Amino acid sequence: MPQATTTRSGRMQPAGSRLIKFFFGEELPFVSHGRGVFVYDTDGRRYLDGCSGAVTANLGHSDPEILRALHEQAERITFAHRGTFHSEQSEALAERLGAMTGYPYVFLCNSGSEAVETALRLTLQYWRERGEPNRSQFASHAVSYHGATLGGLSLSGHPQRRRVAEALLHEFNELTPPYAYRFAEGRDDAEFTELLVNHTAEVLDAHGPAAAGVVVEPVGGAAGGAITPPDGYLQALAGLCRERGLPLIADEVMTGMGRTGMMLASQHWDVRPDLVVLGKGMGAGYAPVSAVLVSEEIIDAIAAGTASVTNGHTYGGNPLGSAVALAVLEAIESRGLVANAAERGKQLRAGLEALARRHEVIGEVRGLGLLQGLELVSDRVARSPGAPIGSLTRAATFAARDQGLLVYPATGGINNAILVAPPLTVTAEEIDLLLE
Ligand code: PLP
Repeated sequence: MPQATTTRSGRMQPAGSRLIKFFFGEELPFVSHGRGVFVYDTDGRRYLDGCSGAVTANLGHSDPEILRALHEQAERITFAHRGTFHSEQSEALAERLGAMTGYPYVFLCNSGSEAVETALRLTLQYWRERGEPNRSQFASHAVSYHGATLGGLSLSGHPQRRRVAEALLHEFNELTPPYAYRFAEGRDDAEFTELLVNHTAEVLDAHGPAAAGVVVEPVGGAAGGAITPPDGYLQALAGLCRERGLPLIADEVMTGMGRTGMMLASQHWDVRPDLVVLGKGMGAGYAPVSAVLVSEEIIDAIAAGTASVTNGHTYGGNPLGSAVALAVLEAIESRGLVANAAERGKQLRAGLEALARRHEVIGEVRGLGLLQGLELVSDRVARSPGAPIGSLTRAATFAARDQGLLVYPATGGINNAILVAPPLTVTAEEIDLLLE
């Protein structure tokens, strides 16, 4: 039995290690179990999961079909390394994902951040194989979140999350974000789109022969809160990338897998990015699984060169994660969850807009499908985010939780926002309850 010790400052330290928590000293409830859209804590309190955990538990909790698939695969084999064995589960997952998204190649990872890194590496490899190894500069939005690893953070326009690692990061986050509420300054959609695309062209000009690609969230999520671009923006950006021969990488870790009422959010604007990053809803909270969808051109260049992508992660493409993600895809298709996200999204949006009419603290409601955001302000006319930044977000998140509703904090460092993003399985009655 380990003994308690005394620290150098004389404090008694209990035996064993203590868990490092996100916020030291903050009291959070302990989770007990989940059923459908509800989560229960160990004191028996019930919460409506209005944000699918972290926009992840897209099928709700304890889904019997997914649990069955997980259990059946766990009994066969949970892990085999892809350098040693191919796995039928991973092959089947790639085939199904390709059929549902229109991409011919899939690389499997475990988290959104890993998949973002992989998309960057595949792009760098693409350039290297084509004899242009100096193309190494990416461009991304100044309000954005692309992951906690160094590549993902380099892309991210999220001051709080960047701060501690700043010394190791690139400043890829240069592009004016398609965030009309704070950046359009009275311009209409067409004028704002023009401004955004012109600025992107300037940034790419400055990168010159070092430009490697553009990375965007089609709808911005964790930084800023469901930032929805003007119609026409993503098409114009894709056109600019095409003109310059630069890969467009869509980070759909949050927006993919049907969340916005389309399988991929880019499909709202008929855009087919060269690479698409998926995560979160792929394993839907049942297993950590993520992926990069890759177009022919990228893989053709690699196939004609070294013909290998050996830079992966130990657990990537493991049979258990693949079996779970395959069952998730099956559920999305057989239960019509993409259409449900679109339908219930309309109901949620109408309800949130009604709420905004009654509450001055809501500056804007935005989003697509079941990815809705509320911009919170201390003064609606001045669009003031209140001080300090983040305080309104925290207050709203905790106030909702105390009333049995979970929402996701999404401050981008310059604003206050929360995400309302219930599971794609949510019913009309559950949306009514959430709104209540
Ligand atoms: N990209 C986007 C758009 C995200 O929203 C996130 C997480 O919130 C990530 C990447 C990172 O994913 P993960 O936390 O699974 O590493």
